[in-house]
Amino acid sequence: FFNAPLSDTAVAEAINDELGRQQHTLELIASENIVSRAVMQAQGSVMTNKYAEGYPGRRYYGGCEHVDKVERLAQQRACELFGVKHANVQPHSGSQANMAVFMATLKPGDTIMGMDLAHGGHLTHGSPVNFSGRLYEVVAYGVRKDNELIDYDVMQKLAEIQRPKLIIGGASAYERPIDFARMRKIADSIGALLMVDMAHYAGLIAAGAYPSPVGHAHVITTTTHKTLRGPRGGMILTDDDDLAKKINSRIFPGIQGGPLMHVIAAKAVAFGEALGDQFKTDQKQVVKNARTLAATLTAGGLRVVSGGTDCHMFRLDVRPQGITGKQAEEALEAAGITVNKNTIPFDPASPFVTSGIRIGASVITSRGMKEAEAAQIGGLILKVLQAPEDAAVHQAVAAEVRELTDKFPIYND
Ligand code: PLP
Repeated sequence: FFNAPLSDTAVAEAINDELGRQQHTLELIASENIVSRAVMQAQGSVMTNKYAEGYPGRRYYGGCEHVDKVERLAQQRACELFGVKHANVQPHSGSQANMAVFMATLKPGDTIMGMDLAHGGHLTHGSPVNFSGRLYEVVAYGVRKDNELIDYDVMQKLAEIQRPKLIIGGASAYERPIDFARMRKIADSIGALLMVDMAHYAGLIAAGAYPSPVGHAHVITTTTHKTLRGPRGGMILTDDDDLAKKINSRIFPGIQGGPLMHVIAAKAVAFGEALGDQFKTDQKQVVKNARTLAATLTAGGLRVVSGGTDCHMFRLDVRPQGITGKQAEEALEAAGITVNKNTIPFDPASPFVTSGIRIGASVITSRGMKEAEAAQIGGLILKVLQAPEDAAVHQAVAAEVRELTDKFPIYND
């Protein structure tokens, strides 16, 4: 797989085994994707050898002319992709992108308002076990019980009562379009800033397949490795010149040292790919595949949270089958299908057990699968969930998974 074999045989073995796992299983984890060879080449390059604290043209180290070029490329491509003025491409992760924005806009003890983790929010949006919940006062909004859609009326009321300084839009598990314009109105009504963490939806947004927060959010954060199909990492976007300056200094020297220049090179490659037509077509196919999966599972008697999906993922309520999310995850894993257990809104089960699983269509789509395969995969999931304890069924499904995945190699060039 690599140009030259890796001399460390123990690590090489683990990497090859992981390649085999990715090739021969159906990966339905909504936050994952398959990057191109070009992205991996850039990430596995000599750029990893370079220290480059600071920003292009203003570094604390010599010899930065080439890394400057690659970081500028990443910035320019990110700005073009999303239609914004400023991009900081240095965050090592989505969590660090969020931390830098909090540090640029808040003081410890200030109030933030984010989506409840149990309703689909992310840990960094105010969970008590995360820095966001430890350093700041947190108000959480959620979804309505009747339709499982974000309750903007309650969000407005909570905002008026609790007066958060920063409102966070975006989610790790939410099927439907988020009304960023409405959230901006709520923020404006109390003089708060709106940050949108578009990590899950970034690729769809770049392709016009999901509503964009640009023009609504004061600042946007994202990961680069989910639907956006880049290397693992984070990014911060804004049109506001002052905020951009503050954010730059909160990333470095605020919370990070030297930027990962090899990852930034890989981000530049991924953004270049995302600017192309094929990426747009692929992202639209991701939504079609997710909808086909959701429809197949619904027809098989399971319940999709909010009744369907308008993005790359959905949460599946597995209670109609008389099982828990944990059991579903384990049974599917035994059959070669990887998902994660996930709470559903107002879940009576604990987060370690849950009543649901989260299913995403990014990886299968990056492998070239379309609606026919998505429907087939939906059928396989149903077979497993209807016989969660039956090893013979798991084996039979695993054989079908093997046959299907052999037809769609993760790297076929
Ligand atoms: N924001 C959202 C909405 C996420 O879903 C995630 C990751 O799952 C993150 C931020 C954090 O990204 P990272 O894992 O790169 O820290």
